[in-house]
Amino acid sequence: MIIVVSSKSKDEELKGLFDYIESHNVQIKSTIGKTHTILGLVGDTVKIDMDAINTFPIVESVKRVQEPYKLVNRKFHELDTIVDVGGYKIGGGHFQVIAGPCSVESHDQILEIARGVKASNVGILRGGAFKPRSSPYAFQGLEGTGLELLSEAKAITGMPLVSEVMSADDIPLFADVDLIQVGARNMQNFRLLKELGKIKKPILLKRGLANTIEEWLMSAEYIMAGGNENVILCERGIRTFETATRNTLDVSAIPVIKKMSHLPIVVDPSHSAGMSHLVEPLSLAAIAAGADGLIIEVHNNPQKALCDGAQSLTIPQFKVINEKIEKLVAFMKTI
Ligand code: PEP
Ligand code: MN
Repeated sequence: MIIVVSSKSKDEELKGLFDYIESHNVQIKSTIGKTHTILGLVGDTVKIDMDAINTFPIVESVKRVQEPYKLVNRKFHELDTIVDVGGYKIGGGHFQVIAGPCSVESHDQILEIARGVKASNVGILRGGAFKPRSSPYAFQGLEGTGLELLSEAKAITGMPLVSEVMSADDIPLFADVDLIQVGARNMQNFRLLKELGKIKKPILLKRGLANTIEEWLMSAEYIMAGGNENVILCERGIRTFETATRNTLDVSAIPVIKKMSHLPIVVDPSHSAGMSHLVEPLSLAAIAAGADGLIIEVHNNPQKALCDGAQSLTIPQFKVINEKIEKLVAFMKTI
């Protein structure tokens, strides 16, 4: 339910309305504007009588929100949310490229890649330490050691970190990680989402392999309902009948999300494509469609990568593509 009240309402008038609403065990999220204040009611609002709300003279309008997602809903929060990742803003006109290897493999590997992408003006470094692999025999990541190597790379380069958490038990290990990734396979791991709702750190929530946009937003709602408002969505391709690409990048998800939600959305062209030569066109398509950022896999030696070599760009390839990305991001601001 959304209630619009005049911004000139007196404190005692607001208190009367708030007391009435809160007596129904419902939370109020207010957004104060110049002329109006929007009160978003979160919780079970079924028992709240709209006619009773209208009896308060300060109420200008009241309507029920049909969508099951509330806190992530743009109707609750008109302006774009901007998430700060270690000093780099994402959303609301702020665009960032996140780059780095699929997995952290060694000290030298992560450092060479971090320095390489930083030389191309990239602020944020990605690197997986806990890897969700389809095969139990495949490289599972360096786990805690991987996170330590990321911390070293951060200390040396100053780059904030993105890394994937697979279990709620591991969250304390992510103290030095600036943006915690929830991978596609964990998008509906509700216990994990609830735990991530209890911390304040930004969360990068990837879309599940075969999940609808509404399911994805409901997962973001889990994190926000716990109190963590720093959520960034990541479209990484979905499973379709098509086999020519690893996944199918759902470009339309970008404008659809922008309409439904105020949360920033970044695109992962690497996992969408599965092949390095597709990373450039998909990156540019994502920018043209309004994405707030990109997360791209880069490796110092893709042929020898322990995970996702085929979709990883070399450092020189990344440099060329990132120049085009920067140009298109700048151009989009002019139209
Ligand atoms: C990854 O980012 O390396 C990864 C495993 O991504 P996804 O969860 O999108 O497959
Ligand atoms: Mn990967």
